[in-house]
Order: sequence, then structure tokens, then C-alpha cells
Amino acid sequence: MNRQKSFDEDKPSIYLVATPIGNLEELTPRAISILESVDVIAAEDTRNTMKLLSHFGIKTRLIAHHQHNELQSAKGLIELLNQGNNIAIVSDAGYPLISDPGSVVTKMVIEAGYSVIPVSGSNAMLNALVASGLDTQHFLFYGFLKSSEKDRVKELHDLKYYPFTMVFYEAPHRIRKMLESCLQVLGNRNICLARELTKKHEEFIRGSIEEILEMVDDLKGEMVVVVEGCKDQKSQDQTQDAPLLHEQIKQYISSGYTTNEAIKKVAKEYGLSKNDLYKEYHGLS
Ligand code: SAM
Repeated sequence: MNRQKSFDEDKPSIYLVATPIGNLEELTPRAISILESVDVIAAEDTRNTMKLLSHFGIKTRLIAHHQHNELQSAKGLIELLNQGNNIAIVSDAGYPLISDPGSVVTKMVIEAGYSVIPVSGSNAMLNALVASGLDTQHFLFYGFLKSSEKDRVKELHDLKYYPFTMVFYEAPHRIRKMLESCLQVLGNRNICLARELTKKHEEFIRGSIEEILEMVDDLKGEMVVVVEGCKDQKSQDQTQDAPLLHEQIKQYISSGYTTNEAIKKVAKEYGLSKNDLYKEYHGLS
């Protein structure tokens, strides 16, 4: 067990500070005061963070904390904490750890018995979600899908029957391929493509995947894709019950039915579509 009273400790702490995703006015007064008061700021890209710090006149010592050497860098940060330094971790934009570096050091800092204190601010996923017009009661933040088509399609198959809204990050040069994979696996769902959030050219494009694919080549800038969940209750039930249904089909086959007859029989017993069950059984859905 690990119990943290964030503001009761005398020990140094690590602050996870969210930075703006575009509009610099979204750096909160609390974030500014923490960035000014800590001993060290560990940044994903020191050049980017230097621009932010210069804008606010913050002169705190800046060091690099990259994704590719996160373990090594985390050990260095623990050493700085051991020496009594308070540290802020920032990424290029939004929250550190959200599709950005910071998780390795956070776990190590907790294990080492120091406090990890979040400092609220801007985040692309939440801005896109709340303005998407899609259901916000329950949702899944997925971040980036894999860049290889084969891996991406496999990931999407795992999400195909997820009933709630899903939020993806994507780079503009991969958005067409990503949406094509979504169309292929999830079908022509309603989505919202949110781009350039908090910036001058902020835009929300709400429509079906096919509609948005028609215009996607003209879109530039940073993008979030919010996708409606699976609305087909029958498909969800069928997938959840797949192991049971497969077992039942196999039993009929072993007792002498052909595969097609067994599928037909099970579909009838469970009130399912024979074609859907056929596709599911043969891995065609
Ligand atoms: N840590 C960030 C956060 O809390 O949102 C996310 C960093 S991730 C490396 C970068 C991705 O976030 C971009 O590819 C894009 O999908 C999304 N993103 C970041 N800023 C954005 C913005 N202003 N508008 C739209 N999407 C943005």
C-alpha cells in the first residue's frame, strides 16, 4: 500500500504539470507558480519548453527527459529528489504521461516514497470529447493506434464491439489511412474530427467516416478522432458469448451435424442471425 498526503510531507515532490496544447493563456496561474518555484523542470523537448518558459519569464533550470532514455533519465531524477530538489515534469503539450513521456519516472518516484502531484491544465482528448457531440458518459481514451496497417486493423478488431465513445490521437499524415481502417473494421460510424484545438484554426468536423474521408486530404494540423461506440446490441451479446456459442457449435458437429447445420441450430436457439454467427465463427466479421 502507498498512501500519499500530497501537501503534508517535508520531502521534495515531483509535479506533473500540464502545459497548453496551443493557446498559451491556458497555462494556469498555479502551473506558472510551480514552474517558477521548483528547482528543476524536466522537459520532453527542452527547446519547445524554453519557448514556453521565456513567454512567461520563467528562469528555472531546464533538463531533458526524453521518451527514448526514460529509464536512465528517471534514475537521474530520483537522484535529484534524493538531493532535496523539487521537480516539475512537462511534455511538449498537454499532460505528461498522456501519449507522452513520464510514466516510468512516476512509478519509480512513487516506489521511492516521494509525492507525485498533478497540476491541472489543457488536454487534447478531453477538449475533443466534450465538444464532439458524441456520448460522454462513458468513454475510452485509446491514444495512437499502431502505424502498421496490419497491427492497426487488429487493434480495431479488439475495439469493434466496445459500446462507448472512443478517442484516438493521430498524426495528420496518417489520418486517411487511420480512417480507412476504422471504416473497414468498425463500419461507417459517426465520428468527430477535432483539429487545431485551442488555436486560431480550431475546427470540429462531425459526420460519418465516409463523409469525413471525402475531405480529409485537405485537413492539416493536429487532430483527435472521437468515434461513436458500437450501437449493435446483438453483435455485442454475440461477441461476449462467443466462447459459449463456439462450444455449442462444436458439440453439434461432434454429434454428427455439418458445420452449417450446427451454426443454423445454435443461431436459432439463441435468437441470433445465422449469417452473423457464420461470419463470427469463421472469423469473417
Ligand atoms: N500530452 C498531450 C495531451 O495531453 O493531450 C498529447 C500529446 S500526443 C504526443 C500529440 C497528439 O495529441 C497529436 O498527434 C494530436 O492527436 C493530439 N493533439 C495535441 N495537441 C492538439 C491540438 N491542439 N489539437 C488537436 N489535437 C491535438
